[in-house]
Amino acid sequence: VKRLVIKVGTSSLILPNGKINLRAIDQIAFTLTTLKNEGYEVILVSSGAIGAGLHQLGLDKRPTTISKQQAVAAIGQSELIKIYSQRFQSYNQAAAQVLLTRDVVDYPESRRNVINTIQELLEMKVIPIINENDSVAVDELDHLTKFGDNDQLSAIVAQLSEADLLIMLSDIDGFYSANPMTNKEAKLFERITEITPELESAAGDEGSRFGTGGMSSKLKAAKRVFNNDSQMILANGRDPQIIFDILEGKTIGTHFAS
Ligand code: ADP
Repeated sequence: VKRLVIKVGTSSLILPNGKINLRAIDQIAFTLTTLKNEGYEVILVSSGAIGAGLHQLGLDKRPTTISKQQAVAAIGQSELIKIYSQRFQSYNQAAAQVLLTRDVVDYPESRRNVINTIQELLEMKVIPIINENDSVAVDELDHLTKFGDNDQLSAIVAQLSEADLLIMLSDIDGFYSANPMTNKEAKLFERITEITPELESAAGDEGSRFGTGGMSSKLKAAKRVFNNDSQMILANGRDPQIIFDILEGKTIGTHFAS
């Protein structure tokens, strides 16, 4: 069995007008269910709680205080998981919610509990939907509870679950020599075998409006993946069925493998 971790970024889940991208969520549910029925073990790491919460409340930007952001995340997370559950159910697939904070995976006993839960869910043929527990961890300065962002979270989940492959779906076709939004000369890297300082400077540090990680955080995640002798593919999540092509071995996005 191949074990996959699929990470979907905010940019793929929240439309530019702030609404939840229901079509994307439906396609994610369809694609992941199909993969599971084909014999893959599938774990989803999904962002979007704060985006969904902002939409629920009719706000167009994050509140300024941390406690308000946490409240927005609590509202959005339940809305998001409700939509995922409904979409998965329509394909006769059960899903489960697992919310994590950094301290939980740093502390050996709770770390073991997380590993066991994920393992058990996979044996039950259920798809775990994992997110950072933003209701207790949105403060970027709080390194005890915060993973940093969901790129790091997905790499840590891939590590905990000993996944064969981490697929990151973003709003861009892969990792380029410069930000393609601002540089027309930028070239897509098809394969990256190690993270060099040149790549790190190509990543810059700006992400999309709703995304938080940006490319430097994807490289940081890739480093962790390399350290675990695993692999990562960064691809465009516009059409989540791209995952089928990736698993057929087509050259898509950027393949991080040593
Ligand atoms: P997500 O929400 O999917 O995690 P991010 O917004 O964090 O996505 O990161 C994707 C964005 O990173 C792209 O839309 C692009 O504008 C920007 N970016 C900056 N540098 C690069 C680069 N070298 N290659 C690709 N994208 C880049």
